[in-house]
Amino acid sequence: MDPSEFDDYVAMIHGTRARFAGRLDVRLGIESDFYPGVELWLRELHARAPLSHVLGSVHYQVSDYRKLFYTGDVFSYQELYYEHLALSAESGLFDTLAHPDLIKNESPADWDFERMRTIIARALDRIAATGVAMELNTSGVQKALPEMNPSPAQLAMMCEREIPVVLGADAHVPERVGDGYLTAMRKLQAAGYSEISYFIDRQRQSLAIDDAIASWIGGE
Ligand SMILES: [Zn+2]
Repeated sequence: MDPSEFDDYVAMIHGTRARFAGRLDVRLGIESDFYPGVELWLRELHARAPLSHVLGSVHYQVSDYRKLFYTGDVFSYQELYYEHLALSAESGLFDTLAHPDLIKNESPADWDFERMRTIIARALDRIAATGVAMELNTSGVQKALPEMNPSPAQLAMMCEREIPVVLGADAHVPERVGDGYLTAMRKLQAAGYSEISYFIDRQRQSLAIDDAIASWIGGE
């Protein structure tokens, strides 16, 4: 979204919220791109409207980001991704870090979790210290490396550090809203989680995964 479209976006959400009142709770959120240097700009952007949930993303594939940070070495790009992920948590700008292992899609053949384990552990230690949540994003199954973001191995490391997890479908189209949530909740349980989180007016709320599964009315 171009910044000039921000007000239209807010108006669209408010219109949808009114249209679905009493049937569906529609809330205003945003996913913002992070890299070092844009903190002040983002702070001002997020202050333009009362947001219910703010996701922060390191989008390694965006051309501006790539121009600034890609040196031609895939492994150092993977490592820098986790450095920027930790910095995004420490910036205090975000409630949740979106799709927090997206970099594995940069070059799936060069993605080796075990090679990255120590780097990831250090980043997760820093993220855990901030209290910021991380997303389990179900759209990863449609990407070059077809698994949710993050992987089960990273989820287990997040659980060890008691990092809260928020589910997201990154829907892009109405048909994908909530897509894969049942599978995602089972993956979270397998990783050791018993609760999932969500945000209302930027305050984290928790829900037992057992209760969420019991009340699930979607397919799968
Ligand atoms: Zn994203």
